[in-house]
Amino acid sequence: MLDADFFRRWMFATTVAVDHEAARLTELDSAIGDADHGSNLQRGFAAVSQILEQESPDTPGGVLTLAGRQLISKVGGASGPLYGTLLRRTGKALGDAAEVSEADLAAALRAGVDAVAALGGAAPGDKTMLDALVPAVDALDGGDLAAARTAAEHGAEATTPLQARRGRASYLGPRSIGHQDPGATSAALLIGALAETAE
Ligand code: ADP
Ligand code: MG
Ligand code: MG
Repeated sequence: MLDADFFRRWMFATTVAVDHEAARLTELDSAIGDADHGSNLQRGFAAVSQILEQESPDTPGGVLTLAGRQLISKVGGASGPLYGTLLRRTGKALGDAAEVSEADLAAALRAGVDAVAALGGAAPGDKTMLDALVPAVDALDGGDLAAARTAAEHGAEATTPLQARRGRASYLGPRSIGHQDPGATSAALLIGALAETAE
């Protein structure tokens, strides 16, 4: 079973991973966007870690809801509301249980990913974070966090040949082809941090 502390550690591990990969995320965003994805997420997750140090929600749902709210309020770019919605909706779906199972997490993340799709109007294949998140939640249905990480990484890599149909990169049309999507890359970091936290 996964408790509030597990979810706090997941958010801290994501903050570390985003810090570590910020330059790469920004470089990817400089090819098909406006070169701010690394700094957007760095600022957002630093704020998430900070508030989770100050307040300690005592449920998994409380941790993710607080983290999501913080991302929405601290990140100006598209990724703030999208990741914020992902975490907030996932947190809401976890409810107020003190501990949740891997299967509960898989179902809740599915609700979170569906909310991202509804907010942004994107579907898998549009070269967005969903190209990493959807395969990850599919793999997580089997309860295997390591498989979810691998699926997210493969999903992110598979965005390279795609043409972007949502977000800033879509303005480039066919010129978005040949570059890995920054948001799919950061989504793989989020799922990777989840798998790492469970190790
Ligand atoms: P901005 O584009 O506002 O500068 P970021 O650079 O932080 O925001 O984030 C860009 C990433 O957000 C993209 O690489 C993509 O994965 C994701 N994204 C953008 N628009 C959408 C959308 N409508 N649905 C899902 N993901 C999206
Ligand atoms: Mg950007
Ligand atoms: Mg921007």
